[in-house]
Amino acid sequence: MILLDGTTLANEIKQNIKIQTEILKKQDITPGLAVIIVGDDIASQTYVDMKSRACDMVGIYSIIHKMPSNINEQKIVDTIKMMNDNDNIDGILVQLPLPANIDENKIIQAINPQKDVDGFHPFNIGSISLNTDGYIPATPYGVIKLLKKYSIKLKGQNVCIVGASNIVGKPLMSLFVNEYATVEICHIHTKDLKAHTIDADIVCVAVGKIGLITADMIKDGAVVVDIGINKDSDGRLTGDVDFEAVSKKCSYISPVPGGVGPMTIAMLLENTIKSAKKRKTDG
Ligand code: NAD
Repeated sequence: MILLDGTTLANEIKQNIKIQTEILKKQDITPGLAVIIVGDDIASQTYVDMKSRACDMVGIYSIIHKMPSNINEQKIVDTIKMMNDNDNIDGILVQLPLPANIDENKIIQAINPQKDVDGFHPFNIGSISLNTDGYIPATPYGVIKLLKKYSIKLKGQNVCIVGASNIVGKPLMSLFVNEYATVEICHIHTKDLKAHTIDADIVCVAVGKIGLITADMIKDGAVVVDIGINKDSDGRLTGDVDFEAVSKKCSYISPVPGGVGPMTIAMLLENTIKSAKKRKTDG
């Protein structure tokens, strides 16, 4: 079994981004990322801090707009519009989830798709489906990069994705189809999960349930990508896959932590640099 080491690959990508940032700065362009966070969710705050630190590391300017959970929806939209019009900002992201009283779709759709470095705007989701240029959501993008780094064959492979969210499972499905894989996608209403995972050459899991995927659900030699992030009873980070048992059966597996998580941040930075480079060509 080989570990899919996302930490090392993410560091390589960040080193490369740092070089590209330095080149852009010599051309008077400092890539800029605006992050909007609404409410006091501790996990969201941690993710935002991690993104901000990663920006610092590679020389991207980042600004955080922190808003109270009782904020008026229109105020968030107005802030986004301000960032859409700010030429020094290349990427805008709104940390999800938003408080229940706020319409997530309305907020995401307020972002200029050209600055939507999270890739959640319908324009960018459509671009993945059409396999045209756009911003790919960071987590699914990171999964594909990680698999390619290890030269794992995708074309013609049977892929089972467990979890069908708009930000992970569904875009990942399109990315695999674009690589000519055959894809099944499972969710909470899937009748017999094992019947789908057991024949897959590649199983990707993004659910948020500790121990959901057990060794009997995985065929010998399969590739397993664990995207889930959970905290166990001791407060340690763990994925959705029974790592101990599954790692004995599979050919490759991504650990949690140290697999897809670091890749997600690296791909967000990559999307931001991509946008900053467009500033150069468009401006
Ligand atoms: P979500 O809650 O939006 O979606 C969960 C999906 O899992 C849904 O499609 C649901 O139908 C499905 N599901 C729930 N229970 C199931 C079951 N028993 N069997 C099969 N499917 C089931 O979650 P999300 O935002 O996509 O996140 C999923 C997990 O991935 C979470 O643990 C989250 O923390 C993690 N995540 C990790 C990263 C990363 O960078 N590694 C990024 C985003 C999300």
